[in-house]
Amino acid sequence: MVVVMNPGAPQAQLDAVVARIESAGAQAFVSRGLARTIIGVIGEPSLHTELNLSGMPGVSTVLQVSAPYKLVNSQAQAERSTVWVGPDGREVPIGPNTFTLIAGPCAVESALQALGAARLAAGAGATLLRGGAYKPRTSPLSFQGMGEDALKILADVRDATGLYVVSEVIDPADVDLVASYADMLLIGATNMQNFALLDSVGRRGKPVMLKRGMQATVDEWLLAAEYIAQRGNCHIVLCERGIRTFETATKATLDLSAIPLVQRLSHLPVVVDPTHCAGRRDVIIPLARAAIAVGADGLLVDVHPDPENALVDGPQALAGADLRELASAVRQLPPLMGRLPAQPRDQLPSQTVG
Ligand code: PEP
Ligand code: MN
Repeated sequence: MVVVMNPGAPQAQLDAVVARIESAGAQAFVSRGLARTIIGVIGEPSLHTELNLSGMPGVSTVLQVSAPYKLVNSQAQAERSTVWVGPDGREVPIGPNTFTLIAGPCAVESALQALGAARLAAGAGATLLRGGAYKPRTSPLSFQGMGEDALKILADVRDATGLYVVSEVIDPADVDLVASYADMLLIGATNMQNFALLDSVGRRGKPVMLKRGMQATVDEWLLAAEYIAQRGNCHIVLCERGIRTFETATKATLDLSAIPLVQRLSHLPVVVDPTHCAGRRDVIIPLARAAIAVGADGLLVDVHPDPENALVDGPQALAGADLRELASAVRQLPPLMGRLPAQPRDQLPSQTVG
């Protein structure tokens, strides 16, 4: 952190700032320029907010130099993380050496629909099944999900297909319930800064997929992940799902640059959801190809056996020829990026097992 003093700030103000820095156990290095004095501060990044230096007399600006997140910072460990989903021994990796397709219905509507969607997903190469039991909808009049009945269906579909389950949780009070059925907890874009929910999934310890909020900066997204990690759960996968811009032709604008950027700032895996970003079927596959090309660790897509009659997000669910096209992209492109298809833990090179 660097503190820039006002031009001509008196010595007493400078001394007061230095005293506050040192009282917090940090080191202050004073450097006098022709017009201004600056103070370099060496200490924890959290001092930036804790010391409240910008409000002190004589202080012009306080600049944060190091990233404010620690546990999810790429410097926290030597290699990028692989997150393993599923019970020991038969787990599915999401990480730097593999490519993981996660697909399934936006919302579980019935046992038949969920099984149909899961079979389509598996046929397209998915190794994880997504399925919504609790749907955070813009309108209270829209279908809100089948709750625990949907979770029971997802567990049955997992038994029938071998696909581990990723399902959204929207209320801290439901974390234990959802975790008792699902193998990975999804935090949707609308809940990225629901701090009670982040706290709860952090304490629960199950793998978490954290979507980027529609208005969230990369730093805010990584700080949300830091909340989960700080509670002791580092099994976090980030999901870029588009941000809100002035463009309304698509539901959101996929921030492709965020994918390689976040992979440099953080060791966490990053997957891309082209479905909820596009909001329209015809651009999902090109976006999926682009996501693979910029180095995404996986994709999250909605599939439905009968999109015309879907209760949620039918116009953006893949089926038929579209799904075959996605399957072919997911088969052909990741190997060009040096990635293997997702395989069980014991069949992967040892350096990816973490
Ligand atoms: C979803 O994945 O079902 C969903 C609602 O997406 P998002 O949170 O990205 O809007
Ligand atoms: Mn959806």
